Amino acid sequence: MPSFASEVKNELAHLTYEQPCDRRAELAALLRMGATVSFGRQHTFGLTFISKNAAVARKTLQLLKSQHAGLHTEITVSRSRQLNKLSSYQLRVAPSPMGTELLTQLGFLHEGSLNVESDWPILRKSCCQAAYLRGAFLGGGSVNRPEASYHLEMVTGNYAFSQLLYQLLHRMQFPVGVTERKDGYVVYLKEGDAIVDFLGMLEADKAVEAFEVARNVKEVRAQVNRIVNCETANLQKAVDAAGRQLADIRLLQAAGRYAGLPELLHETAAGRLEHPEASLSELAATLHLSKPGLNHRFRKLHALAEELRQERTQE
Ligand SMILES: [Zn+2]
Repeated sequence: MPSFASEVKNELAHLTYEQPCDRRAELAALLRMGATVSFGRQHTFGLTFISKNAAVARKTLQLLKSQHAGLHTEITVSRSRQLNKLSSYQLRVAPSPMGTELLTQLGFLHEGSLNVESDWPILRKSCCQAAYLRGAFLGGGSVNRPEASYHLEMVTGNYAFSQLLYQLLHRMQFPVGVTERKDGYVVYLKEGDAIVDFLGMLEADKAVEAFEVARNVKEVRAQVNRIVNCETANLQKAVDAAGRQLADIRLLQAAGRYAGLPELLHETAAGRLEHPEASLSELAATLHLSKPGLNHRFRKLHALAEELRQERTQE
């Protein structure tokens, strides 16, 4: 079964932005996530992009072509020999004047440097910011199944890029966190609402719906748990009350005071001894009494037992 994260990526990979500014931003983040820049002769640049997701690789290729129509790309698929291991897809743009042109258009090459800071100028408009985040998620994102605990993350080996993603999400008022892990720098969201907002901004409508369905199920389950807990608490109270009543009666028996109890109290005590597990209302019904009436009698029995207890402590 494909992971939920790859389902979301497949959904996103099939969406295409209409505006060129957004396609450029999406591609820039995808490449920041998954590409390494290579250097050729005469100050030419190329790049190699690797993904384990076929839809993401196709998407990247499509964006590269839309960014630069004549771009020459090579694609290789390396099938893993190990079972369960995913194949990886490699897109390569050889170092060439065209590769250099592409990287310049994306803002990657800025006066000869590859600084991530150069991405800020393409992130001025909110449409481009969303597209950039979609690219980052496609390139290095993951999200837990909505039934599991809430967690969405984007992992990159590039510290400056993780800071940029963090700052971007922070400016957009997302409750975002960033941490370092063995596999890289992790920019993450932990709140259900934030994850749904994020996926909504990326236009992952199916994923958002999956979250909404799961959230309803979670809420119903929590409600059922509350009711069950409440019933358990009531049951416990009843058991505790019956336990106290039985302790009172056994004390009176042990002290030889049981036989001599007034008739009504004797009847009550005998009823409790006969039905030790009955709730107060069940016992009241058996004895043809009202609940408050029965409670009143137990209070009297309790008072007698307490007298005995006090006598004993004084002795
Ligand atoms: Zn835009």
